[in-house]
Amino acid sequence: MSTITTAQNSARANSITLLDEAKAKTNLLGMTQAQLSDYFKSIGEKPFRATQVIKWIYQHGVTDFEQMTNLSKSLRDKLMFNACVTPPKVIHRQYSDDGTRKWVFEVTGGSLVETVLIPADDSKVDGRKTLCISSQVGCALDCSFCSTGKQGFERDLSAAEIIGQLWVANASYMSDDNDSLADIDHSAWENKVTNVVMMGMGEPLLNYDPVVGSMALMLSDHAYGLSKRRVTLSTSGVVPKMYELAQDIDVALAISLHAPNDELRNELVPINKKYPLAELIAAAKHYVYDVNPRHKKHVTIEYVMLDGVNDSDAHAYELAALLEGLPSKINLIPFNPFPHAPYDKSSNNRIHAFSNILSQAGFVCTIRQTRGDDIDAACGQLVGQVADRTRRSAKWQQSIKDRSAI
Ligand code: SAH
Ligand code: SF4
Repeated sequence: MSTITTAQNSARANSITLLDEAKAKTNLLGMTQAQLSDYFKSIGEKPFRATQVIKWIYQHGVTDFEQMTNLSKSLRDKLMFNACVTPPKVIHRQYSDDGTRKWVFEVTGGSLVETVLIPADDSKVDGRKTLCISSQVGCALDCSFCSTGKQGFERDLSAAEIIGQLWVANASYMSDDNDSLADIDHSAWENKVTNVVMMGMGEPLLNYDPVVGSMALMLSDHAYGLSKRRVTLSTSGVVPKMYELAQDIDVALAISLHAPNDELRNELVPINKKYPLAELIAAAKHYVYDVNPRHKKHVTIEYVMLDGVNDSDAHAYELAALLEGLPSKINLIPFNPFPHAPYDKSSNNRIHAFSNILSQAGFVCTIRQTRGDDIDAACGQLVGQVADRTRRSAKWQQSIKDRSAI
């Protein structure tokens, strides 16, 4: 009996030591250049080590310090003891016949988030691969047509969990199996993702620092080196943060508008009650004109097409009038239905008629193609089978049951 207890105690002691070590390790994934420089200073090293490590992680996909051969042996040992490079854990991956790929990640605390990669189906844009990244688990903003909103808000993702989605997507082209990544030739590593859109789960401007830090790594020549036109942040209109964004980073901006007047937008996108259209359009104009006026920019206006709700000719004319003076491209999104959604998708004819009115008014107007249907991977509706654990979700599920019981 006493032997068992001793064995149990020593096992517990070991696991506690391991746990403490794991906890104490600093995850370098997602740290910006400045944060990583500070980290190196804090461990008594030269700040330029940050550039070397960033290149290893993002340009060569190396997560094992032992393989970072331009660092001294003593620095590698120090890093192995104190730090780690740990992307979020993939618990499910699905690859579609049309090239679309989807990953479900389990992030710290056990929550699940999804990421989707959508290749261009147009031979003229050969090789374009767009990754749709999540910024939060769930979303607090509760837009009436959005399944993420129906989950409620669970928590913000860390920078490691945000940039880690891009890291994993690129890694998937080097090896299908994360465990065998250690054995590949990292000098032949090639990042295949060409475009990133912050259009997965969550409102990116409500998780500001980790999102902006991650986008800085996407743009940095030492990390992913993507052009600023190929990194897009989509917001439902968190107006004060749009002004901050204009100061902090130059990326493409998409605005989830979905309605041409306040009355309808209050219903579809409730944050409109706090920041109504006039304020939103002013913030969008500031983003385009005031920050770097010589650099010709536009915003993308996203508009989900809901049958009989926001898709009439009158709505199209009203939208054209609202957007006058704001350089914008309009992207019409066929509504992605989800179980018990209170809307239907507009017909193709209706979407085309709506689009024609906007084109005639002088706007560039596109209709979003839905891809990856066979793996339930439509961008902007990344919740599929993801388990949701919030109280609000339980209430919403209950209200559905109550409704169907009537
Ligand atoms: N919170 C941000 C980014 C994530 S949503 C935002 O709202 O912009 C990404 C895009 O998907 C948004 O334009 C959103 O309005 C759209 N979307 C959400 N639910 C959708 C659905 N069921 N069908 C089609 N598009 C949807
Ligand atoms: Fe949140 Fe965007 Fe969904 Fe609205 S559309 S609930 S802001 S994720």
